[in-house]
Amino acid sequence: MNYRKLGLSGLTVSEIALGNWITHGAQVDNDRARACVQAALDVGITTFDTADVYSETKAEVVLGQALKEVRREGIELCTKVFHPTGTGHNDRGLSRKHIMEACDRSLRRLQTDYIDVYFAHRFDPTVSLEETFLAFSDLVRQGKVLYVGISEWTAEQIERGVALARELRVPLIASQPQYSMLWRVVEQEVLPVCKREGIGQMVWSPLAQGILSGKYAPDKPMPQGSRASTTAGAPFFERLAGQWLRSEVLLAVERLIPLASEIGLTLPQLAIAWVLQNPQVSSAIIGASKPEQIHENVKAAGVSLDPEVMKQIDHILNGLVERDPGKTG
Ligand code: NDP
Repeated sequence: MNYRKLGLSGLTVSEIALGNWITHGAQVDNDRARACVQAALDVGITTFDTADVYSETKAEVVLGQALKEVRREGIELCTKVFHPTGTGHNDRGLSRKHIMEACDRSLRRLQTDYIDVYFAHRFDPTVSLEETFLAFSDLVRQGKVLYVGISEWTAEQIERGVALARELRVPLIASQPQYSMLWRVVEQEVLPVCKREGIGQMVWSPLAQGILSGKYAPDKPMPQGSRASTTAGAPFFERLAGQWLRSEVLLAVERLIPLASEIGLTLPQLAIAWVLQNPQVSSAIIGASKPEQIHENVKAAGVSLDPEVMKQIDHILNGLVERDPGKTG
């Protein structure tokens, strides 16, 4: 494993992080979840990402149990607040009330005294940013949160957040956007603002939820046990990756396989290495339904891709890549 600083902050993260959306508490049983966390630790992954909303709060519980015996100082634990975790009108969003309550509940579920990076999972247009950042500031002063991040905010929202963070001395250090060979909407607007402000990227779905593993073939049934074929995964897969289940995309993805093997990589390794070529990316957050996927994918760490390979990838995916910054969030 290789490690990078998260933006201009002092926090070091592993180039590959393990996230537990859809998997822990839903798609995989707790023994498998624990085995995946152990596999991650074994290969040197130190950064773990979850959210209160994942599997209706069960994902945090499973991760907390799996990491219980691990030296707390040896890992970086990230979680998020925003999406509904209950039916009450204050069980959502970025109000002071919800942030303070959600943080305490996440700490309990994760069995820890502090969160390394606490992300605002989305922007909340119904709450003043001052209220949100004052709550984050208090959590930081209380020692419950070490650093703050935002996820899927537009460049303009990030700029406003940065100004307040500076005023209230909140260590806003990370952004968590979707980023992959197929989804590059942050490149035009979000990344330049983050670069100027020293905010690092921990990017999600580097495999486009498995599309960039090459296992979804055109005109074939969904592979058994894959996210797309499971009750827990299918709705999310359909909503966020369904756009790629077209034969023109799947055929192009198939054409990436020989390109990867020419340089001694599997396609998932190439896809993860691709996001890590961007120097603004500090960590690629992968998901895994089995330990074997972690063992395979982790070999993307430290890989340097030749500019010619990068060009060939763009050539193969020409016309299929989403770049519209308006699709952020
Ligand atoms: P990926 O794009 O890495 O997809 C992971 C899935 O792809 C796995 O669960 C597995 O699914 C399949 N897969 C992984 N490796 C292989 C392999 N080698 N061969 C074949 N299939 C493979 O990431 P996710 O979409 O899971 O997202 C990663 C993390 O990002 C999340 O857990 C979460 O922490 C974070 N995230 C953040 C969001 C945000 O709004 N901030 C939104 C979404 C995610 P299977 O085996 O079931 O097919």
